[in-house]
Amino acid sequence: MLGHKLRKFIVDEFNLRKQADELGVRVWETPSFLFIVMGFVILVAIAGVYFISNNYDSPDVLVISESTVVVILFTIGNFIIRSVDQVTRANKMKTEFISIASHQLKTPIAEINWQIELLLSKFPGGLSEKQQLLIGQIAHSSQKMARLVGDLLDVVRIDQGRLAMTNETLDLCALVAEAITNHRPLAIASGVQLQSVCPVEAAKVLIDKKRMGVVLDNLLSNAIKYTNKGGKVEVFLETKDNLVQVCVRDNGVGIPAKEQSDIFKKFFRSNNSMKSSTDGTGLGLYIAKNILEQSGGKLWFKSLENIGSDFFFSLPVIKN
Ligand code: ADP
Repeated sequence: MLGHKLRKFIVDEFNLRKQADELGVRVWETPSFLFIVMGFVILVAIAGVYFISNNYDSPDVLVISESTVVVILFTIGNFIIRSVDQVTRANKMKTEFISIASHQLKTPIAEINWQIELLLSKFPGGLSEKQQLLIGQIAHSSQKMARLVGDLLDVVRIDQGRLAMTNETLDLCALVAEAITNHRPLAIASGVQLQSVCPVEAAKVLIDKKRMGVVLDNLLSNAIKYTNKGGKVEVFLETKDNLVQVCVRDNGVGIPAKEQSDIFKKFFRSNNSMKSSTDGTGLGLYIAKNILEQSGGKLWFKSLENIGSDFFFSLPVIKN
């Protein structure tokens, strides 16, 4: 396991083409490539200076060769700083672009939703089956867009370290029960059983109610979405020492072992999940993990492809 992780780390570190694609720069501008060149130049410089000092007595030759090495190292160092600067600027511009585009999209989407409500209230019962179907599809698509825009804005807030939380002491069992009730229609529509086991006593946690709803919504909707018809999703909640731990278990498609290390990365979707559900952005788990970590908690998972997944999170319990 450790050997596999180390091998993957080394392969990723030296996969310059992948790094260049990820950073949006050319291969020779990637920091790893420049560091390799710098290491090589240092080795050649050490050998060169050793050779020159052994073979030439003239201090002039020594000074010129050392100056040349310093100039080369200075030039490479300058390239490294410029490429890091370029990546940082590009990243900042990307974040600003997402933020502006999402804010601009919010208003027209809200308008569409409002117009749909108006349409439905103006013609109560007067719409034909076909019209209702079409309006239902428009409403569904605009809700999806609204969710995507909301997720993008949350990602920007997380990346800028300004995801606001309004924490209050709440019973996690009650929040889990509420989330289960909200997901019951989706589970029924997907032909998936949905069950939960909560302890009798309350598990008080300090959390932002809306954001906790986002976490539970993500874990439950994923479990249902990535479980085939006839499957089962179970939610267990237990208190251990000073922690409350929630497990969302499904017997769905699971996550392939070689993709598990990427699951919490922004926009990542595993290959098998894309086949089982085309609907997804790869942002939910990234947001959920950040919300939990900002609340003093943790999120992790265990999964086997074609067997199922267990997503766990834990939070500190508030003692009265
Ligand atoms: P998405 O919108 O794609 O569901 P998430 O961030 O919620 O985005 O999840 C990221 C990816 O993690 C998913 O696309 C899927 O590949 C994988 N995943 C998450 N939950 C499950 C699960 N319960 N079973 C199988 N794969 C999952």
